[in-house]
Amino acid sequence: MSGSTITPWVIGNWKMNPVKADALQLVENFKQLLQVQPIDENKCYLGFAPISIALTSIQSELASLNRVVYTVAQDVSRVAGMGAYTGEVSAELLKDHGIQYVLIGHSERREIFAEDAHILKKKISNALNAEMTIIYCVGESLEQREAGQAEAVVLQQICDIASVVSAEQWQNLVIAYEPIWAIGTGKTASPEDAQAMHAKIREGLNQITALGSKIAILYGGSVKPENAVELAACPDINGALVGGASLNAESFYQIAQAFANTK
Ligand code: PEP
Repeated sequence: MSGSTITPWVIGNWKMNPVKADALQLVENFKQLLQVQPIDENKCYLGFAPISIALTSIQSELASLNRVVYTVAQDVSRVAGMGAYTGEVSAELLKDHGIQYVLIGHSERREIFAEDAHILKKKISNALNAEMTIIYCVGESLEQREAGQAEAVVLQQICDIASVVSAEQWQNLVIAYEPIWAIGTGKTASPEDAQAMHAKIREGLNQITALGSKIAILYGGSVKPENAVELAACPDINGALVGGASLNAESFYQIAQAFANTK
């Protein structure tokens, strides 16, 4: 079943960027764009994922808008609660600081920080227990795609976490399909290829959970204003996780508008 009745999400992943002054300016510019031409909250959920030290200050900046723009953590500890875990931030402490959304399983964390299924299951479980909403990232490498394994890899990444998500908790998950070869490379999956993978993910979700047709599946990988409308037109693409283009307020706004207007 198509997911076209799902409210789209457009989330900006700032990764390890930018400096404080630029982050504040970016938010200010984005707020001005929204004030001149609002994007209806019911037409598109919006969010920014800043560096962890900036989460609460960016959240305060966004609070003066007359619509909600989520502040999203880029990561969460595999350890729950509080204790002697130097450098870690748990789901409970994120929640305590008012942060309710978190990215888990981004390919940069899987590859650079060696986060495997075992670690990701712990992170998912902790975030769900703290009643956070998770944007769970999946995606295949170029080698895996060329070897015809893309679908199997992506579906396995979803199956990896299924044992720690209860029937009701699926409503707190968003999936982001991000082919690794398209992240930060300027290469976007064609709308046909992206739609085909999203439809497979939808099929897979429908086999795992009764909520499968309600789960938003975002596309990520060099999304920009120039390709946002055709991606948004695909029935199973329910939004975008945007890296590079989210560091420019105008570009991010245009992507959000494309999804709000096309869906
Ligand atoms: C990302 O890192 O989630 C991403 C999609 O990056 P970019 O848009 O720069 O490819």
